[in-house]
Amino acid sequence: MSKSARWDLKDNESKHLPIYQHKPKLIQAVKNSTFLVVTGETGSGKTTQLPQYLHEAGFCKNGKIGITQPRRVAAITVAQRVAEEMQYTLGREVGYQIRFDDCTSQDTVVKYMTDGCLLREILADPGLSQYSVVILDEVHERSLNTDILLGLLKKIFSNSPKASKSRSFPLKVVVMSATLETDKLSAFLSNCPVFTIPGRTFPVTCTFGSAVGPKDTESTSYIKEVVNMALAVHTSEMAGDILVFLTGQSEIERACDLLFEKAESIDYRYDVQDQTVEGLLILPLYGSMPTDQQRQIFQPPPPGIRKCVVATNIAATSLTVNGVKYIIDSGFVKQLNHNSRVGMDILEVVPISKSEAQQRAGRAGRTSAGKCFRIYTKEFWEKCMPEYTVPEIQRTSLTAVILTLKCLGVHDVIRFPYLDSPEERFILEALKQLYQFDAIDRRGNVTQLGELMVEFPLHPGLTRAVLKATSLGCKDLLLPVAAMLSVENIFIRPGHPDKQKEAEKKHRVLAAKSGGTNDFATLLTVFQSCKSSDRPSEWCKENWIHWRALKSAISVETQLRDILLRLQQNRDIPKETFDGKKSEVFRRCLCTGYFTNVARRSVGKVFCTMDGHGSMVHIHPSSSLFDQEAGLNWVIFHDVLVTSRMYIRTVCPIRYEWVKDLLPKLHEVDVYELSSVARQEVTDEEMTKWDTREAAKRQPEVSKEEI
Ligand code: ADP
Ligand code: MG
Repeated sequence: MSKSARWDLKDNESKHLPIYQHKPKLIQAVKNSTFLVVTGETGSGKTTQLPQYLHEAGFCKNGKIGITQPRRVAAITVAQRVAEEMQYTLGREVGYQIRFDDCTSQDTVVKYMTDGCLLREILADPGLSQYSVVILDEVHERSLNTDILLGLLKKIFSNSPKASKSRSFPLKVVVMSATLETDKLSAFLSNCPVFTIPGRTFPVTCTFGSAVGPKDTESTSYIKEVVNMALAVHTSEMAGDILVFLTGQSEIERACDLLFEKAESIDYRYDVQDQTVEGLLILPLYGSMPTDQQRQIFQPPPPGIRKCVVATNIAATSLTVNGVKYIIDSGFVKQLNHNSRVGMDILEVVPISKSEAQQRAGRAGRTSAGKCFRIYTKEFWEKCMPEYTVPEIQRTSLTAVILTLKCLGVHDVIRFPYLDSPEERFILEALKQLYQFDAIDRRGNVTQLGELMVEFPLHPGLTRAVLKATSLGCKDLLLPVAAMLSVENIFIRPGHPDKQKEAEKKHRVLAAKSGGTNDFATLLTVFQSCKSSDRPSEWCKENWIHWRALKSAISVETQLRDILLRLQQNRDIPKETFDGKKSEVFRRCLCTGYFTNVARRSVGKVFCTMDGHGSMVHIHPSSSLFDQEAGLNWVIFHDVLVTSRMYIRTVCPIRYEWVKDLLPKLHEVDVYELSSVARQEVTDEEMTKWDTREAAKRQPEVSKEEI
């Protein structure tokens, strides 16, 4: 197909977007300065069009155009769309890369990727020499990685756009944001110009409901209410699509099932006011959904059919569903928050902020006036919803990004240019954890182990367990486990009680096959059994395992293996020997990585964590150790689920002697002592004093029979 035909096709679809009229000026603005802030309403065409304009204007002659997204799904869907618009095959000229999934090639010139991926690329090539333009998209979302990228790009490129010897031409940095804060962004980036795409929006009338009040912040009864509301809108409002906001996959699937059931019984002759509406098309939209299903949400519904998209927050700004006239807002979102009670990050369902609620409502007013139905009360809005969403950098663990910064030579991590600084105690907490994992030394310098760790896109603890296993010659035991813990949940939990029993039975058999008392070993067994099966997808079906998740775990394992092989070629990974049982060496490796997650039986079924928080936790019912607590004294666990109780999940019994030498490290360094190291203010004399001083080794008290 000739080039001109290509552009004709694309233009037909995209020239109605608000950004289209500003194409020449936008291209010029990018040419004129190193940094540029671009702002415009969601749906104005920033993400899909600007990279194409820059491509057309010849920006790809010297290097790639890279566009970051905080969300994996957005990176994939948008890349697909842009490849289609440009009539290219996805993965060739236009591609995407997310953690463990690289869909790019030598020919890729327009590359969508997660912000985490670009951060990794900076580690390998701080001058970003392969890029001519880097676009940080969705900056208003304030994801941790995007915030760090902002600071890094400012630091590296604000004084010298060529920045490194590896660059022969200057880099252009475009920062895109849907709302607000453009002045703040411009000021942060040396007062760079701001390009505003004017956009028309239509009024949206918002109403409050009565279902969720200030006392309901922890209940999930809102699902039912949301479904009822959707049905009421469908039967009483004029034509126009519905967009429902819920918090996550299982909720969305439940809501869709309920909605489907109820919509089935509607009599369109009598129950529906607008007689042009003859049916309801219910479509879920969440992160881990297969991409072919995601594409459906963008298709216009058949005539007479009303579309109802039930989505996570991804539909608030990252993806725009056309045709939406009605919003149903649950008022909640799933958010990763640092939980100081357990000392780790936990996914929680929390009330959204008022600004988020306004953004959600705005999605109804893109093409005509719309309505937003909030299921919560005005009182809930006033009392439970904060004004703004706190940026991720101020509420999640910084361990991984601080290690990245350190590896990039940013030693003073407190005075790094943050758009909004995290609390100092969070930075110190991260340093403490890195020290505990031996990733940095007492002077705050990255150790050899730390340099190895940063290469793995995994939690530092898990990386450490993998490296330990490599030293001990048993990486084949740990790599599959690391992979299985990096993908979505692999165990299917059917909604129907009979089927649930059947699934649980199968899962118990799998657990028994691996000894019946170690959830990590169960993961290994599932991985190995599936991989060695002749028909792996059938095997998964029979055993109630998500084949899609397992397939990605198999691919992740290969990638982790490749990273490890590459490292082994270039660096020394010390060799160790161990003569003991396979199950013991396996668990000992896990202890090396999970000694921060050790719990000891307290009374009855209650365990107490040993990290200094002393939280009381229970074993989650999904664990094969649930109901077997009696004989257990010490366990390690992968994560914590907080509901009315604190549950530990993916659990493994251990012996105290395996962690005895590791546990003191948890108490060895006081965060305040790290403060001066973090600021690089410590003198050599002080350092020697500190090194020789008796560290406060508060060993946990242990009774004899436990040892
Ligand atoms: P912005 O980044 O300014 O929010 P986008 O570039 O994401 O805007 O969206 C512009 C338009 O492209 C919207 O109308 C959106 O619905 C449409 N669009 C985006 N992705 C797809 C897709 N995968 N399929 C169909 N339309 C899409
Ligand atoms: Mg966008």
